[in-house]
Amino acid sequence: MEIRLENLTKVFTDKTGRETRAVDKLDIVIESGKLIALLGPSGCGKSTTLFMIAGLEKPTEGRIFFGDDEVTKLAPEKRGIGLVFQNYALYPHMTVYQNIMFPLENLKIKREEAIARVHEMANLVGIGELLERKPGQLSGGQQQRVAIARALVKKPRVLLLDEPLSNLDARLRLQMREEIKRIQRETGITTIFVTHDQEEAMSISDQMVVLNFGVKQQVDAPQEMYNHPDNLFVAKFLGNPPINVIQGEVKKGTLFADKKKIGVVKAADGEYPVGLRPEDFKVDPEGFEVDLKETFHIGRDTLIHFELNGTDVRALVDSDDVEIGAKKVKLSVKKNKIHLFDKESGSIVSHE
Ligand code: ADP
Ligand code: MG
Repeated sequence: MEIRLENLTKVFTDKTGRETRAVDKLDIVIESGKLIALLGPSGCGKSTTLFMIAGLEKPTEGRIFFGDDEVTKLAPEKRGIGLVFQNYALYPHMTVYQNIMFPLENLKIKREEAIARVHEMANLVGIGELLERKPGQLSGGQQQRVAIARALVKKPRVLLLDEPLSNLDARLRLQMREEIKRIQRETGITTIFVTHDQEEAMSISDQMVVLNFGVKQQVDAPQEMYNHPDNLFVAKFLGNPPINVIQGEVKKGTLFADKKKIGVVKAADGEYPVGLRPEDFKVDPEGFEVDLKETFHIGRDTLIHFELNGTDVRALVDSDDVEIGAKKVKLSVKKNKIHLFDKESGSIVSHE
């Protein structure tokens, strides 16, 4: 089911009349059958967007479509959505079986059909053996599997997940990422996965929507967005270690920083914030020379630390290329990896 958001806006007004634009004129088309990550820092409007899609928050403006159906004013239970939250929200006194069955209780579905569906969903999420347990007897990962089975048992048109892995420890989180991907692929259900964790979003999704202060920043496939960020916010939000941002100056098609020739670019003369990812440097005898402040050999990679134009820069280069104890090294930036941004707006000018 395709999901379309048109000019979707939510303004909260507190008692003193102060307004928060939690979601601001969002236009997004989410293709049917895809897993989309809604990504951004805490407070950027991810949950509010999800709750409007679910029907739990009323938009101030704008419209929501599932396929050709407008659902903007439809009650949540009529939208055909499955919802999963960070805190599993299972009924503690019910068994796993009863928890998954619960959404079917008031539907006009034959008993045998309902029972078959509970088993189907429990098996799909890998908890078929645990149906008689109570939530308190399950691990966090298992509880979240139950919550996903419960969200899917009504065969929703859309699955909405709000930071579903944030309560899990690191190892389980990685495992559940894979599981959610698999479940989504097996069911083919259009899924929106909310997270503030860029690495989680990059690893799980087909497409990412990045928000900041309720405003859409970019919509793209993860690797495409990583390689071609549309603005400084996205460039800085994706990547660990983060992108370096230095001040550079373009003169006749050459980018300089600290009088060093960084590379050749297609941009008008002037000053630019320049984004350089740590892994996009390489040791190059023809390159510009930097004084090393620190060097950490980490197996095959070496993390080097130097300054450009007064800014600390970190680069990851091949250990074979840096002598132990070296004080200086010559570097260049790989092709298409110099990101120039407009110094007023932060929008991308060129990737070269
Ligand atoms: P996220 O899920 O990305 O962390 P939210 O959607 O929860 O962000 O919140 C977006 C903004 O809207 C925040 O500034 C938050 O404080 C505000 N907000 C969210 N819900 C309410 C509410 N019910 N009343 C007032 N402000 C709210
Ligand atoms: Mg939230």
